[in-house]
Amino acid sequence: MNKLRKQYAKQKFRTCPFCDWQAQKPELILAETKNYYLTLNEYPYIEHHLLIAPKAHIEDLSREKPGKEKDQLTKIASQLMKKLGIKDYVVLDRNGLRSGMSLAHIHRHLIPVEGPHDMFYRFADISKMWDKVKAVKKYKELIKSTPHKNRLH
Ligand SMILES: [Zn+2]
Repeated sequence: MNKLRKQYAKQKFRTCPFCDWQAQKPELILAETKNYYLTLNEYPYIEHHLLIAPKAHIEDLSREKPGKEKDQLTKIASQLMKKLGIKDYVVLDRNGLRSGMSLAHIHRHLIPVEGPHDMFYRFADISKMWDKVKAVKKYKELIKSTPHKNRLH
């Protein structure tokens, strides 16, 4: 497990971090729609690990309202991955705490994969190269340079 994931595992959350994200970490939001946001994972499994979460607290995928917003943000995230030179990544939705979710609020992961036998649980020690302020700046520039509307509402 990498250093950042260890830090994350030690945290006790009094409120749901995904519900608080917009208020607590607006600078980390890379793109948003009316009901969803795309952000980087502050405690990534691997560098360039992105997350898409609904703004409302939803604990079960079956309770999500159908719509294109999540797909739109997945597309923006995919384009960002491409611009970062990442060809291989996993798009992952989990449902239920036994699926490996560490927080009940549903969220979609986009996790770069570095090799055929190196799925996303590599937990490399990326803490040395991880600078989230720099990463957000870079991601936002890359998203902005892609010809589409970033704010979809
Ligand atoms: Zn929540």
